Amino acid sequence: MKKITIAIDGYSATGKSTLAKGLAKKLNYLYIDSGAMYRAVALYALRNNLITDGQINIPKLISELKNLDIQFVFNPSTYSSETYLNGENVEKEIRTPLVSDVVSKISSIKEVREFLVQKQKEYGKNKGIVMDGRDIGTNVFPDAELKLFVITDIDVRVKRRLDELHSKGIYVSEDEVRKNLEERDYLDIHRKENPLVQAKDAIVLDTTDLDKDQQLEYVLKLIKDLKLIKEE
Ligand code: C5P
Repeated sequence: MKKITIAIDGYSATGKSTLAKGLAKKLNYLYIDSGAMYRAVALYALRNNLITDGQINIPKLISELKNLDIQFVFNPSTYSSETYLNGENVEKEIRTPLVSDVVSKISSIKEVREFLVQKQKEYGKNKGIVMDGRDIGTNVFPDAELKLFVITDIDVRVKRRLDELHSKGIYVSEDEVRKNLEERDYLDIHRKENPLVQAKDAIVLDTTDLDKDQQLEYVLKLIKDLKLIKEE
């Protein structure tokens, strides 16, 4: 079978990662969560006091990018890849509200994007990849055979993110989650460098009324109907 590239973009907490993970498992493809890479840079900046009162020391962060080693290590028991920053498993820490609150500011820095996009392109050079994020179909893999743009009603997104955080033992209020999602969406849409925008050739997937199995089923049918994966 000829391998393809699948790019999944959309607003925060629309279920992109769950869908991407499910597709990668089904197709036996590599799954890369590009948001985790931006989160790892944000965590590095927080830990190294490069953010004071919400202000990022941009020149210092840029000069330290070369010290950042971000890797994904596959965990077969959860069938998911976990994020490592300089050899340390930071999968849980990068999902905390502290990181969520600053990540969209970090991701608006041109040099940070260039640093990560280069790595993301490298992961996809042999195809057979599902990557989710904000600029995957428009910037990282503009030639992806399948581009999805995921949308979901905001109330459903808030509930799903709250449930996800609670399941990880992270307790935050509904208002905090809503505020964070709205702020991140705003910054991601309005930034200068590779903003979140629907690629012209993307297919819109509204997940408001679809559970994760239905989403997966829908996209697998789409791949079949569009004959995206051909025999070699
Ligand atoms: O996907 P996730 O919500 O974990 O992403 C965290 C943040 O990383 C986003 O809000 C966005 O600011 C940034 N991001 C990005 N480009 C991507 C993926 C994520 O700017 N391709």
